[in-house]
Amino acid sequence: MGSTVSSFLYLISGICFIIALRGLSHPATSRAGNYCGVVGMVIAIFTTLTLEVVQNYAIITVGLLIGGTIGTIIARKIQMTALPQLVAAFHSLVGLSACFVAIAAFYQPEAYSIGNKLGLMKTGALLEVALGLAIGAITFTGSIVAFGKLQGTITSNPLIFSGQHVLNALMCGVLITLVILLCYSQSPAAFWLIFFVALVLGCCLVLPIGGADMPIVVSMLNSYSGWAATGIGFTLNNHLMIITGALVGSSGAILCYIMCKGMNRSFFSVIIGGFGKKSKNIRKSQSESNQISVKEGDAEEAAFMLKQASSVVIVPGYGMAVAQAQHALREMANLLKAKGVVVRYAIHPVAGRMPGHMNVLLAEANVPYEDVLELDEVNIQFAQTDVAFVIGANDVTNPAAKNDPSSPIYGMPILDVENAKSVLFAKRSMAFGYAGVENDLFFRKNTLMLFGDAKKMCEKIIQYLN
Ligand code: NDP
Repeated sequence: MGSTVSSFLYLISGICFIIALRGLSHPATSRAGNYCGVVGMVIAIFTTLTLEVVQNYAIITVGLLIGGTIGTIIARKIQMTALPQLVAAFHSLVGLSACFVAIAAFYQPEAYSIGNKLGLMKTGALLEVALGLAIGAITFTGSIVAFGKLQGTITSNPLIFSGQHVLNALMCGVLITLVILLCYSQSPAAFWLIFFVALVLGCCLVLPIGGADMPIVVSMLNSYSGWAATGIGFTLNNHLMIITGALVGSSGAILCYIMCKGMNRSFFSVIIGGFGKKSKNIRKSQSESNQISVKEGDAEEAAFMLKQASSVVIVPGYGMAVAQAQHALREMANLLKAKGVVVRYAIHPVAGRMPGHMNVLLAEANVPYEDVLELDEVNIQFAQTDVAFVIGANDVTNPAAKNDPSSPIYGMPILDVENAKSVLFAKRSMAFGYAGVENDLFFRKNTLMLFGDAKKMCEKIIQYLN
């Protein structure tokens, strides 16, 4: 295929990706956006396969078969609750592939048309390779640590030691020096040192980040993976890869900024990695140590309170995703609406384990978009709300974010469910949320704990509502 035609097709697929991103910004248009992205990707793959530089179709076919099979199996088997760690794992692969391309280009520059017959590369090409390598390695190890934290194989508590910022700053300084050295000397030693320092830096950037702040890390790594892809694009001289990488990089950065606002964190401190705090509040549950008791209710009591209410706000969280309770919840809400109760849903920007997690689940259960309220809209309404029904949410309602400066979630805006006349908490036990912080709302007078699986609890409440 000629370069003009391939450039034109790449342009079309780039436009498809932009429209896809636009579509994904709202639940109502996200499905169409997704299809548009698929069309763009098909055009991109087809165009790339027909480029003159592509010579060995056998290797590509084997790669497609192996990758396609693994991808299909994962996509079919993956639980909705495990998607965040899957996304982190995919980011790590993008980082790793950037490193592989950088290594290949460094050792065989003539194959990429970025070096002469003696293997000497121009400064610009060396800079591209160095940046692709450094960002790729940071993304690779950072994403593996994020995967471990989301999967629970690494503690979600912040891992902090004194002098951490100095060490991170020092590593950044060393990286910049090595990149300059590489550009001037094309030294293999500088190349490999960049790789190893960046690998360590990736771990050091993510380890200190506490569970509650993980949404920011996920979007930050999303952004890094985009910039890593851009680096590869420059090395391979592939315009679409540069465009796509820049789209992912900048949209990830915007998402990171939105998450920072949602969590009331400084964008800069995220970039330098280390805004986690050791909590003095991570301790044994009060109920376990029998200091204060909680009021425990059952489905019958909950159904009675919900029926008597004139307004109910449902607050879903990660536990709703675990229990897959969204359909039963919608059914329960519909029954209440039929009895004249005004029912709305409140979504916190970081509820669940990935951006938009709750929106996706509620949309899947056909909850009308107009019933779903954002944090700012709903917080002013809690004082006029009879019942706040918190289902599988914990951290996003925890008042420690407002009144305990030692808490790792301090400063994060929360859903002020405590202002409602009554609060029902549907969860299985007194266990903490992802941030590992006790929620003193459980012990308040206007709270009734509904212990049990979120889906089963909704189904039982439905029985009493009928
Ligand atoms: P939390 O993690 O704070 O709480 C979830 C609660 O759900 C737990 O306390 C758990 O209690 C309960 N639960 C678990 N399984 C079930 C079940 N089957 N039935 C009923 N309840 C269940 O979730 P939130 O949504 O309130 O907050 C999200 C947290 O995750 C925040 O700290 C956020 O920063 C963090 N995070 C968010 C990401 C994002 O992008 N949205 C990404 C990564 C982290 P019990 O075990 O007692 O049932």
